[in-house]
Amino acid sequence: MTETQRFRSLVASAASIPDPLPVRAFLDPAHVLLAAEASVFASKELSPRPVPDSDRAAREEARSILKLLGAGGWFESIGRQDWRSASLVREALGASSPLADAVFALQGLGTLPILFAGSPAIQEQWAKAAIAGRAMAAFAMTETEAGSDVAAMRTRAIRDGDGYVVNGAKCYISNAGIADFYIVFASTDPEARGKGISCFLIPADAAGLTFQGPQILSSPHPLGEISFQDCRVPASHRLGEEGRGFALGLKTLDRMRATVGAAACGMAARALVEALRHALSRRQFGKSIAEFQLVQEKVARMATDLEAARLLVYRAAWVADQGAERVTMEAAMAKAFATEAAQRIIDEAVQILGASGVMASHPVDRLYRSVRALRIYEGTTEIQHLVIAGQLFQSPLG
Ligand SMILES: Cc1cc2nc3c(=O)[nH]c(=O)nc-3n(C[C@H](O)[C@H](O)[C@H](O)COP(=O)(O)OP(=O)(O)OC[C@H]3O[C@@H](n4cnc5c(N)ncnc54)[C@H](O)[C@@H]3O)c2cc1C
Repeated sequence: MTETQRFRSLVASAASIPDPLPVRAFLDPAHVLLAAEASVFASKELSPRPVPDSDRAAREEARSILKLLGAGGWFESIGRQDWRSASLVREALGASSPLADAVFALQGLGTLPILFAGSPAIQEQWAKAAIAGRAMAAFAMTETEAGSDVAAMRTRAIRDGDGYVVNGAKCYISNAGIADFYIVFASTDPEARGKGISCFLIPADAAGLTFQGPQILSSPHPLGEISFQDCRVPASHRLGEEGRGFALGLKTLDRMRATVGAAACGMAARALVEALRHALSRRQFGKSIAEFQLVQEKVARMATDLEAARLLVYRAAWVADQGAERVTMEAAMAKAFATEAAQRIIDEAVQILGASGVMASHPVDRLYRSVRALRIYEGTTEIQHLVIAGQLFQSPLG
C-alpha cells in the first residue's frame, strides 16, 4: 500500500480527523501518517470511554489512560524530542479526550527535565518507565505565593551530607496524589531568587512527601496539593546543577508550550466539526441555519483562527525539530495565540449549537470547560505576551 493509500484508508476509518494538510509544509510524510494514526486511535480508543463524573473517577481514568497510551507507544515522541509528532498526537488527544491530553502533557513535563539533566541511572529508571507508561509523572513548580512569579517560591532544599532536606508545599499540581514521581523545584539559595532554584526528582513514596488533597476542576483533571516535611532527597536525584533548576524548568516549558497550542487546536477542530454538523442539520425559519450569513461569518472566523493557530504551532515545532537551542518566542506566540483562538472557536461553537451546546453531556460543552485552563497553565497568556515583548526588546530592531 502506498503512503497516500494508507493515509486515505486511515482517514476513512476515523470518525473525525484533524486535517494535517494545511500545515503540511512543516511536516514530513511520516508525520502525516502519524496524524492519521493518532486520530484513528483517539477516536476509536478514547472517544467511546465514559467521561469521569467525579474526581475519584478522573484519577482512576487518568491511570488507565496512562497505560493505554504507554502500551500504544504514544509517548515515544517525547523520548525522541520530536515536537511535530508530539504536537500531532496532542491535537488528536485534545479532540477526543482532554483528560488523555493532560496525561500526555504531564509525561512530557515530567520526563524532559530528566532527559535534559538526569544522570544515566535516573534516565534508565524513570524516563524509560515514564515513556512506556509504567510511571506517572508530575511537575511541581507552583505554590500559593508563587504562580506566575515562580522565583518567589518558598519551598526550601537544604544541603545535608550526601543529600538535601526539602520543606514546603506546592499547589495546583496535575497528577498530585496519583503520580509515581514528582519533578520538584525548590530554592537552595533564596537570596538568589530565580538563580537559587534547583530541581529534584522525588519518588511519590519518599518519606516526608504527603498528598494533601485534591483541588477539583470544572473538567476532569486530577489536580492537588502536596507538601514536604523534612523530605530527604539524595544528591543523585538533583537534576542539573544547583541553582540551575529554574533554567531547566524554562527549557522544558520552551519545548512543551507549543504542544499546549496543539492540544488547543485539537479541541477547537473538534468544536468546529460539531458546529458545522449542527449548522447543516438544524432548521429554523424554514431553512438550515448554515444558510444564514451571520452563522457563515462565525464559521469562517473559526476556521481562519484555527488555521492561523496551527501555523504558529507547527512553525514552532518545526523550529524546535531543526535543533534550535531555544524556541522561546515561537513557542510563546504559538501557545498564546492558539489557546486564545481555541477559546473563541469553542465559545462560538456553543453559540451555534444553541441550548444543546450547554448541555453537560455535549462534547462541545465539555470542550468549553476543558479549554479554559490552557490559557492559564504553563504560563498565562499575559506571561506569554511578556515573554514575546522581552524577546523583541532584546534583539536589535531593524
Ligand atoms: C488545570 C491546571 C493545571 C496546572 N498544573 C500545574 C502543574 O502540574 N504544575 C505546576 O507547577 N503548576 C500547575 N498549574 C498552575 C499554573 O501553572 C499557574 O496557575 C499559572 O502559572 C498562573 O499562576 P496563578 O494561578 O498563581 O496566577 P497569578 O500568577 O496569580 O496570575 C493571576 C493573573 O495575573 C496575571 N499576571 C501575573 N503576573 C503578571 C504580570 N507580571 N503582568 C501581567 N499580568 C500578570 C496573570 O496573567 C493572571 O491573569 C496548573 C494550573 C491549572 C489551572
